[in-house]
Amino acid sequence: MTTDGVRASTQMVGILGWPVRHSLSPVMHNSEFRRLGLDYVYLAWEVAPEFLEQAARGLRALGAVGYNVTIPHKQAIVTCLDELSAEAKMIGAVNVVCLKDGRAIGYNTDAAGWRDDIEQDIPLAGRSLFLIGAGGAARAVAVGACLAGVRRIVICNRRYETAEALAEILHHHFPKLQVECGGPTSGECHQRIRECEVIVNATPVGMAGHGGSPIPAEWLAPTHYVYDTVYTPAETPLLRAARERGCKTRNGIGMLVRQGARAFRLW
Ligand code: NAP
Repeated sequence: MTTDGVRASTQMVGILGWPVRHSLSPVMHNSEFRRLGLDYVYLAWEVAPEFLEQAARGLRALGAVGYNVTIPHKQAIVTCLDELSAEAKMIGAVNVVCLKDGRAIGYNTDAAGWRDDIEQDIPLAGRSLFLIGAGGAARAVAVGACLAGVRRIVICNRRYETAEALAEILHHHFPKLQVECGGPTSGECHQRIRECEVIVNATPVGMAGHGGSPIPAEWLAPTHYVYDTVYTPAETPLLRAARERGCKTRNGIGMLVRQGARAFRLW
């Protein structure tokens, strides 16, 4: 990358993470800024947790237009902001910050980015979702699914208490939703997955270096639609097992691009 085109007038956006050197966001956003002839530059800032508040204040002082927030800062950044969007409040995490008129406003575009992506293949209204994971990505998927009108969510997570905490949040915001929890080794989850049309993995299991499938391959049936939020490798062990059993599948690259497109429009 060269700095050609960066001038005194160039507006600054970027991403705060720890680590962040692997992020695809700078390439994605800078190529879009260039394509559209916009005088913006997107940088990656590796910020340790103890410096997050200072970094957020510094970006405000420097007049940045906004920034993305990624692991591990998506929840901690909330205390550095003046206002949250309705979705960010429900999810309890922020992945986009806009700095405008001296105020810092937090958004979560993961939920809508995921929904935009999956609904290319399958409308979610009235469906039953089998959700693997209960962390930040799973919360975004769950809220996105509820806003799209799913009828039921089965949360299958390694630690039961995290699944229960997510179930409580969903009960609070979506009282009509049917929510159940279980673990990936439980007979209950095996039974319930048969009653679900859509399966989503929102854990890192299957990522390069985190091999394996988050649920046994035998749980999959050809009637399942399987979405993996992981996108490296492009076909995770879960997606391969699903394809081999005749399921329709999609990985998380579209979610990444679509949450980024929404951030781009906000800035
Ligand atoms: P997180 O908040 O740390 O949550 C991780 C979740 O995965 C928790 O539910 C955790 O279970 C579970 N988990 C972690 N390691 C596990 C293991 N070895 N076996 C079983 N479960 C395990 O992380 P996150 O922000 O939700 O991100 C999760 C993944 O989502 C990321 O790795 C990334 O691949 C993907 N993601 C994709 C996009 C996209 O745009 N495509 C965006 C965000 C995230 P416990 O509660 O039991 O610890």
